[in-house]
Parts: sequence; C-alpha cells; structure tokens
Amino acid sequence: ATPAALMVGVGRGAQAGILIRGGEILEKAERLTTVVFDKTGTLTRGEPALTDLQPCGHCDHDQALRLAASLEAGSEHPLAEAILRRAKEAGIAPCAVQGFEAVPGHGVRGQVEGRTVLFGNRRLMEREGVNVGQVGADMERYQADGKTAMLLACDGELAAVIAVADTIKPEALEAVRSLRAEGVEVVMLTGDNARTAAAIGRALEIDRVIADVLPSDKARVIKELQQAGKVVAMVGDGVNDAPALATADIGIAIGSGSDVAKETGGIILVRSDVRDVVTGIRLSRATMRTIK
Ligand code: ADP
Ligand code: MG
Repeated sequence: ATPAALMVGVGRGAQAGILIRGGEILEKAERLTTVVFDKTGTLTRGEPALTDLQPCGHCDHDQALRLAASLEAGSEHPLAEAILRRAKEAGIAPCAVQGFEAVPGHGVRGQVEGRTVLFGNRRLMEREGVNVGQVGADMERYQADGKTAMLLACDGELAAVIAVADTIKPEALEAVRSLRAEGVEVVMLTGDNARTAAAIGRALEIDRVIADVLPSDKARVIKELQQAGKVVAMVGDGVNDAPALATADIGIAIGSGSDVAKETGGIILVRSDVRDVVTGIRLSRATMRTIK
C-alpha cells in the first residue's frame, strides 16, 4: 500500500470527525468482519433514570432510597447517578457510610447506621448469601422491558428492588442496519444481565448479545472472537472498555467517553455518533480501492 493514499484517507476521516491514528488502521478496517459495541454509554445514552422502586418488607420506600443513595454517593457508576438524582428530587439526603466498597460488575456495599447494606445485581446478592427467590419474577418483568433491576439488602435480608432504564441512542438502529448492509456482523457486549441485554439487542436488531461479562473479562471475549477467525473492532466509551479496545484489531472510542478510552482507541469518533463507525469502514474500503 502506498502511504500517500492512506494519508489522504486519514485526512478525509479527520474532516468527517473520525480521527484515525495511522494508515495501517485503514488497512485493517477494510478487512473487518465483526463490530462489537459496548451497551451502556455507547448504544444507549448512559444516563439511566430510576423507573421503579418496590420495597419488600424490611424498609419503606423512602428508607430504601436513602440507603441506596448513601452507598451510591461513593460510586462513579452511571447507575449511581440515577439513584442519587431521584433521592435529591425526593429531598432525601444520603447518610454517612463506613467501610464503603465498590465491587466491579456487581455493585456497592458498606455500613449505614450500623447495618450492613448491599446494593447491586443478583450476582452480588448470591455472593453474599442473600436469598432473592421472592423477587425473581419481578426482576424478570423489569428486565423483559429492557430495564436494569438492582437489589437492596440490609443485614442479609432483601429490602427492595429498584429498576432503572436507559434510553437507546436514536441513531444506533441505523448504525446497526448499515453495518449489516456492509456485510459486517454486529455484537453487543455488556456487564448487564442477559434478559435486559436481549431486550435492548432485539430493539436494535443485533445478531449476537454477550451479557453478564465482568469488566475484567471483556478483553477475553474479544480474544475469543479473534481466535474464531474474526477481525474485530470494539466500540466503547468507558474506563472499563479500555482493555477490550486495546485487544481488538481496531479500538474505536466515543468522543464523549472517558479519557482512558480515547487514549486507547485507534479511532476516535469526535462527533460521538455511532453511525460514524460505518462511515469509517466505507472510507477504508474506498481508500484501499484507490491503492489496489
Ligand atoms: P456495563 O457493562 O453496563 O458498563 P458494569 O460491568 O459496570 O456494566 O456493571 C454490571 C452490573 O453490575 C450492572 O448492570 C449492575 O447491575 C451492577 N452494578 C455495577 N456497579 C453498580 C453500582 N454502583 N450500583 C449498582 N449496581 C451496580
Ligand atoms: Mg459503557
């Protein structure tokens, strides 16, 4: 390949808000078979809002919200913002927390007013020996609607189910359809549970959904796709996505995402529009045609 033609391609990308770190990325982009999207913040806005709070016996609505908000005050997860925003709207102030701990891919825990409080997913409750059987059907109902259901436990007893919903980005469906039209397989990768992920995957017509993946395992999933012969681009926005972006044949970072993701990505989508993934692939194909 002649570097000059590749540099023209890189320049065209820059004009379109697609920053490409080097001509060899354009060569790889032409051979892509698979695009893997992170869910939260990439296909969805990453601004979840609390939709349901169902207390189950051990506390009332406001107590449950106060306990969850107290723990989430120490978290930087997008889910935490949803809880804190609603508590603020309800005029509920978080309380002091002792021994706060964020458990990646699980949730948060700590002592509030002398009680051990847990807030997170089913995996967190199972790990801590909290019985969740009584709310299984309720969680599944929320998840079938594409909501993320979280559980609050207090001293080992289940206290509430809290559901939040994120909004799918309006341009995401068009991006998925255009990629498929280019003959590229589309995969969604998420730490969220399989039912919620499947509901969102269906709405976006995504062929393959890989859910319940711990942050530390996202890069391994990319490696497995590569071992199966795929040439993989990973599109993500978060701190958690950086190892997967680095492992992929091409890492594509959303411009509005974390600095770590942008430092790791070989391509940065300045306009934060996922449709620019397709524009980038088309550009690479057009560029390579001029070379061959
Ligand atoms: P994602 O792939 O969407 O970024 P994560 O791997 O960060 O997801 O988290 C996976 C799941 O773990 C979340 O859907 C949620 O159920 C639970 N979780 C993680 N962090 C928190 C938190 N701070 N509060 C409540 N739940 C959490
Ligand atoms: Mg994300």
